[in-house]
Amino acid sequence: MKHKLRHSPLVLSLLAAALCLQPAWPQALPTLGHGESISLGAERQLGDRIARELYRDPDYLEDPVLDEYIQRLWAPLVKAAAARGELSPELQERFAWRILLGRDRSVNAFALPGGYLGVHLGLIAIVTSNDELASVLAHELSHVTQRHIARSMDDQTKMTPWLIGSMILGVLAASKSAQGAQALIVGGQAAAVQSQLSYSRDMEREADRVGYGVLSDAGYDPKGFVSMFAKLQQAAGVNDNGAYPYLRSHPLTTERIADMQARQQLSATMPVVAQDMTQSMLAARARVLSQNTVDALKAWTQDSKINSPQASAAQQVGALYAATLAHMQLRDAASADRSLQTLDNRVQATGPASAQRLVRLLKAEIAAKQERFDAALSLLAPASPDTPLARPELIATAQALVRLPTQPLRTAVIAALRELVLQAPQDAQAWNTLSSLLAAQGMTLASLRAEGEAQMARMDWTGAKDRFRAAQDWARSNRLQAGDNIEASIIDTRLRQAQSLVREMQTER
Ligand SMILES: [Zn+2]
Repeated sequence: MKHKLRHSPLVLSLLAAALCLQPAWPQALPTLGHGESISLGAERQLGDRIARELYRDPDYLEDPVLDEYIQRLWAPLVKAAAARGELSPELQERFAWRILLGRDRSVNAFALPGGYLGVHLGLIAIVTSNDELASVLAHELSHVTQRHIARSMDDQTKMTPWLIGSMILGVLAASKSAQGAQALIVGGQAAAVQSQLSYSRDMEREADRVGYGVLSDAGYDPKGFVSMFAKLQQAAGVNDNGAYPYLRSHPLTTERIADMQARQQLSATMPVVAQDMTQSMLAARARVLSQNTVDALKAWTQDSKINSPQASAAQQVGALYAATLAHMQLRDAASADRSLQTLDNRVQATGPASAQRLVRLLKAEIAAKQERFDAALSLLAPASPDTPLARPELIATAQALVRLPTQPLRTAVIAALRELVLQAPQDAQAWNTLSSLLAAQGMTLASLRAEGEAQMARMDWTGAKDRFRAAQDWARSNRLQAGDNIEASIIDTRLRQAQSLVREMQTER
């Protein structure tokens, strides 16, 4: 079994939408210097350090539905950047290229050192097309491929990576919408620090220009850049409350606006992209998951768009999805079922297959919440037994199986999860789910190892070391089953690797 020991890094930046027109201003956009003072390896290490903290943040969100959505938008951008030569094979290999979702309702996205990106649910909640969200991701991706973080560090020669890492975490904490006293204190420090860490105007324009090309090559409508920009511009006028931290790091300068306006004229013939039902429901999911106080949930259940004749079909469906999810979180089963039925009828009548699938996943989620695990299983089952389950269905199926008595399906789902983590060893949620299912199946040693692997995936070397040691202890004092000898030897190797990573981390300071 192949294991990736080291995972990758990240960069600090925030969301924006701006436009760059490479052909129009070839000279006006200076090529930035390449004198970065930090190596790929060092930047990755810095990113790993920041990401490790973010994985522990209570706002870090694992949501298979939204994770899949963001991955689906992200993968073509990475591919296009590589095909355009923006992303060298070396950078692709050595950086993490991982997106972390944050539950926060503020409109924000940022690149971190080493190829990590952070996206707040507040951003997903306000976009009305995949192209808009992809435009922000393309801009952030370009900060990474252009090594803007490394170049920003040139000016901060006195700071150790450790200090920079702490500062970035401080800025991120301050960008959240929480309003406790602690956040304000961090915010005061962060404001001072942020001016040192933010990108230059030239870097922003370069990220716009490169991001624009990547977005178009990846097959998105470049109009996404324009409409995202307009959205942020409008927000800049009406929002002074910190709900748009992206705007602080991505100020809408006159140059960027001029670029955008020129682009808008060129693209005037492009059709307006209407919001589709699938995207509308995903944005609704982000809204509810990022604002789940009782008051906010009650407000989602009474959204006037549900029945408003002014609302488009997609908007109505999105509002219904939000209401259903909110009823579920409020534990009002009767209202959730009623709202779900209405949603189902509308989507079945006119929605595409991708929208029908989202409703089916929501049905299964509600069934599981109501402890109707058999019902959840049948909703999640593939159309034909030969069709492999997509990740959201697979994770939900495994979670339901953990709660049901032993049945033959468990073996097949364990095999599918093992295949998934073989392809994506950094998938901590898959490892955790696998661990629970193995435990339910009485495969204790394999379950303990999967727990350790989940900690490795989150780069929590100390946690991983503890789990692998617990596994080793268990193997010494219990009778081993078939297959356990192989597990035991993998555990020995992984424990040594975790121990050496812990030592390495301690000497890094
Ligand atoms: Zn930027």
